[in-house]
Amino acid sequence: MLANRLKTLNPYKPGEQLTDREYIKLNANENAFPPPKEVADAVSNLLNTNLKSLSLYPDPDSTELRVEIANFLNKTGGVLANTKEAKSKLDFEITSDMIFCGNGSDEVLSFVFYAFFDDDKKVVAPEFSYSFYPVYAGYYGIELEKVPLKSDFSLDVEKMLEFGKDSSGMIFANPNAPTGIALSLAEIKNMLDNFPKDRVFVVDEAYVDFGTESALSLLKDYKNLLVVRTFSKSICLAGMRIGFTVGNPELIKALTTVKNSFNHFPVDIICKTAAKAALKSYEYYEKITTEIVETREWFSQELSKKGYSVIPSKTNFIFVNHPTRKGSEIYEDVKKAGILIRHFATPGIENFVRITIGTREQMEALLKVM
Ligand SMILES: *Cc1c(COP(=O)(O)O)cnc(C)c1O
Repeated sequence: MLANRLKTLNPYKPGEQLTDREYIKLNANENAFPPPKEVADAVSNLLNTNLKSLSLYPDPDSTELRVEIANFLNKTGGVLANTKEAKSKLDFEITSDMIFCGNGSDEVLSFVFYAFFDDDKKVVAPEFSYSFYPVYAGYYGIELEKVPLKSDFSLDVEKMLEFGKDSSGMIFANPNAPTGIALSLAEIKNMLDNFPKDRVFVVDEAYVDFGTESALSLLKDYKNLLVVRTFSKSICLAGMRIGFTVGNPELIKALTTVKNSFNHFPVDIICKTAAKAALKSYEYYEKITTEIVETREWFSQELSKKGYSVIPSKTNFIFVNHPTRKGSEIYEDVKKAGILIRHFATPGIENFVRITIGTREQMEALLKVM
């Protein structure tokens, strides 16, 4: 009954969604805060004044939302965190034909693999990065060249570029997950300078808003660059499923072709309404992002005092280990106390746990049991 291809599928495992009791959930890098009230107002206004709109298919190409995203990126420089390095401004205009929206950035990434990564050559990715990349590679029968991280867990840029010369493309997260370490804009520019111009180079900026320089400003000079973003982390809308990528209009056209061969309407009308309202609430996001960054710095210090090693993070999570305690032990102990964090049983990182930065109160509760 089952198709052969199913036998080799190796699906992604997201952070647990347990319901046996109430947990403090710090295992999926979701935002500690709710979206702003403007989002609720916009959605209830849609339902109360234009319920009929739900009877109709949404705009297949998310035209309005793409215009709003472009405006937002142009206005803010594309980043939210209230840190100096995040404030770099774009010196050109991002237009809506440079934007492609999907049902979460996971869907966008899937389309990126399908559209740009051929199966004749490997795609370069770090050995440890977002664990959906190998899943998509498997799904489409594309081989990954998994480049080990350096001993300090940073990306091995030289090795990645070496493999990149004869590759079908490059993908990594910046800041990277699950390490939380970021490359600078200069380092990314250097990579693009030393990477084939006729292959697509993807920077997944899911966590950029927590204090990393964005690669958006490089789009002017590098037509093979795609920057992938999500509303799930800094914008507090993981439950709505919206992600997008920014790049050359030619690349965006290719992604639209893939979308229209799979599902014409990935962004529904409630999502669109929520996303548009969210983009108007810059001050709110700046405030909560700054708070998360402050909590991260405080929590990292407190954990270090307790003997943990904390990799300095530029994201809304930290990657942590302890000289004498196993990662699985830390995870289990914390779970018994009603707090979920993430442990990867993968060799090489099995002694670490990944902890999402929640509210100050949540982190105080976690600190007590760690
Ligand atoms: C969370 C995450 C995503 C997925 O985001 P969605 O928009 O919720 O699908 C993509 N890339 C990285 C690195 C992530 O951490």
